[in-house]
This record gives sequence, C-alpha cells and structure tokens, in this order.
Amino acid sequence: MYRQSRPGDNRRTRSPRPNGGSGGYRSNRSGGNRGNYKKNTKSNIDYRKFINKAIAKEEDTPYVPENTFHDFKISPQTLANLDFMKFTTPSEIQDRTIGMSIDGKDVIGLANTGTGKTAAFLLPIITKLTYDRTGSGVLILAPTRELAQQIDAEFKRFSAGQKLFSALLIGGANIGKQIQQLKRNPQIIIGTPGRVQDLIRRKALRLSSVHTFVLDEADRMCDMGFEKDIRGIEAELPKDRQTLCYSATMTPSVRSIVAEFMRDPEMVSVVRGTSNEHIEQDVVYFNDKEHKIDTLIELLEKAEFEKVIIFGETKFGVQRLADRLSNQNLPAVAIHGNKSQSQREKALHKFKKESVPVNVLVATDVAARGLDIPNVSHVINFDAPKMYDDYVHRIGRTGRAGKSGIALTFIQGRKQPQNR
Ligand code: ADP
Ligand code: MG
Repeated sequence: MYRQSRPGDNRRTRSPRPNGGSGGYRSNRSGGNRGNYKKNTKSNIDYRKFINKAIAKEEDTPYVPENTFHDFKISPQTLANLDFMKFTTPSEIQDRTIGMSIDGKDVIGLANTGTGKTAAFLLPIITKLTYDRTGSGVLILAPTRELAQQIDAEFKRFSAGQKLFSALLIGGANIGKQIQQLKRNPQIIIGTPGRVQDLIRRKALRLSSVHTFVLDEADRMCDMGFEKDIRGIEAELPKDRQTLCYSATMTPSVRSIVAEFMRDPEMVSVVRGTSNEHIEQDVVYFNDKEHKIDTLIELLEKAEFEKVIIFGETKFGVQRLADRLSNQNLPAVAIHGNKSQSQREKALHKFKKESVPVNVLVATDVAARGLDIPNVSHVINFDAPKMYDDYVHRIGRTGRAGKSGIALTFIQGRKQPQNR
C-alpha cells in the first residue's frame, strides 16, 4: 500500500532503501542467512512450517449435486425466486441437508465459510412456513449483527411474494422498533443472542410457539462468548421442535450444545481441508526490535500490501504497534481484548470500508476470533503464533474465493555479524 502522504512529512528517520529489492522478504537493510535460523525463539513451531512456496492449485473439479432445487419439496414461488437469484444448482451442503431438514430431522451441517449454509437452512424453513404460518415459529441465532442482517436479506429474497415476515433483533439498533416489529407477529425471528435475551427479559419476545430453532455459525457464537445466552434462550423454547445447527468447525462447545439441544441429529460434514496449500507462505527475518518494525514498515509501503492483517501476541503490543504505524502515516486500527465488542466492530468497519484509508488491522488471536474479517491480501504474523492451530486460523483470513493470499511470519534470527 502507499503511505498516506501528509504535507511536510519527514518525521521518519529510517535510512533510504538501497537500490531495489534483493528478492524474498528479507529487509534490505540487513539480510539474514536463512540457514542460520533454525529456531524461532518465541514459538516452538518449526519455522519451516511457515514456508510454502509451491502453492497448490485450487481443486477445479466442481461438486456434482445429486438433486436439483426442484427435487426438494420447495414451493413454486420460492423456486421462481431461486431462478431469479441465479441459484441454478444446490451447493454440496445444500444438496446433502435440505432434504433431511424438510423431512423434519435435526441436522448438524458442517461446511467451510462461503459454501451456502444460509440457504441450506432457510429453504427448508420457508417450505415449512408455507404450510404453517404461526407467528414466532422460527428462531435463528447468528453471532454478529452483520450476519443476522445477511440472513434476513436472504430470507426476504427467497420468500418474496409469499407474505412471510421477519423480525431482525440485533444490538445497536432501536429496540423500540424491534418491539413494534414483534407485535406484528412475524413468522421468523432472526437475531444475535444478546439482543434476543434482552427482549425476552423485557417480555417483548415469547418463544413458546417456536417449532424451528437454528444456530448459525455455532462455533463463532461460542468463540464470542454467547454460550450462556444461547443456553438461556434455549431454555425458553418448547422441547418439541426441530433444531438445525450450522458451523464451520466442530469445537468442544458446539459439541456440548448439540448434545444437549438436539434430538437424534444427522450430521453432515463437507468441510474441506484447511486452505493452507493455496496460500503462499514465507518467513521474514529480523535481528532486533527496531529492525523488526522497520522491516514491517518497509513491507507495508509496498503497493501490493493492499489490505493487511497483522497479528500480535499481547493487547498492549497490538495497540502500540497500531499507534506506531498510524504515526508513520500507515493508518491502522487495533482489535484486542481491552476493547469492547462494539469497539472491535467499529475498528473492523473502518478497516473494511473502502472510503476510509485504513488498510492495516492489528489484532490478537482471541479478539480476531468470531469477527467477520473480509479477505485480505496479506496476513503478517508480527509475533509468531504459539500454536500451529492459531497459525492456521490466522492465515485462513487471506487467500479466499479463488484468490491466492500471502502469509508472512516474522522470525528472530541471530544478531548479524558486523562485517557483513
Ligand atoms: P456460508 O454461510 O456457508 O458462509 P452463504 O450462505 O453466506 O455461505 O453463501 C455464500 C454466497 O453464496 C452468498 O452470496 C449466497 O447468496 C451464494 N450462494 C449460496 N448458495 C448458492 C447456490 N446454490 N447458487 C448460487 N449462489 C449461492
Ligand atoms: Mg453463514
């Protein structure tokens, strides 16, 4: 990315770069000898696991579905809406779960992000609602406001022309209006756990007629600390109901929720291996703190570093780094545990929004979890992760949707010999 130039900006004291780059991601100021750096002092992970230069091609054999949308007992109006939306064939998770959900089974659907889980549960629900239009019959919980909004938008498109109504219950929006919406007796309620709990407490929301309960992105809801809210909400629901749970991963929390909430569920997993092979990965060597930050700045100034997430270890380190970069005219926002959920969402919004010149997000692992972070050009592990699992999580933020992403991990080497 290009630095935001401010008039009279000459505060930076780094020496200018010697002519051109020397290839790779080594700082031009003092390169390291790769062979010398077997050990990464902070992380016990073998640094070679952070390198992958032979990027595998995305699998290009498309999934061949067994069903068409017309094979399911979906209403003709919904089928027409699907045609209009150019949903020609079901995705794998849709192909394999829509039928059993329409049959009334409890279903656990595991699939990677972006594979069409929303339609996988909405289409059976809309089908059910064409026969049973009871108010507050369906409750869908999602981890973030944005995701709840997306579900509501998809619901409106799939159900267009069928006089089905939804209420969207999310934090940060006027609760009075939501109470009004609920008075109109909508068939389907979509919300985030916190706000839904709030409306139950205010006696504006009664869940005694819910026949279908959906947990969307269950892993993220648990990661974000909503487990208790979810349990509280579930306690208000009739036991005789259908429960659908969609998630990208099967974490211990999801497993325990599923065991308690669901009756004889069918589990369908179409999770594909982590996309690491499609991500170009390399290490960046540094000698000491100052060299480390100079090297980072040098990288961020390159045009191809368009949208970058930098991972750091501590809350303070992350905030300090974001401030330092901002002072160097590389506007950055930070998300970490000392910020509230709404502050994190706000920072993320700045990072996402094209018109705001913030192209760097600095984050801790925990804070980044559960946030809907868009595709980024680069993930930089300024502090190497302690566990390989965290590494996989981190770098999965780049290289989605057919684009190849780049992940770089900073590795401390020995002090460079003076006569180099
Ligand atoms: P997930 O919840 O698994 O992350 P989404 O339900 O948000 O994925 O779907 C990702 C995108 O793919 C959405 O824009 C959605 O409209 C689109 N999509 C889903 N299913 C189909 C389909 N069968 N045909 C075409 N587009 C689809
Ligand atoms: Mg989803």
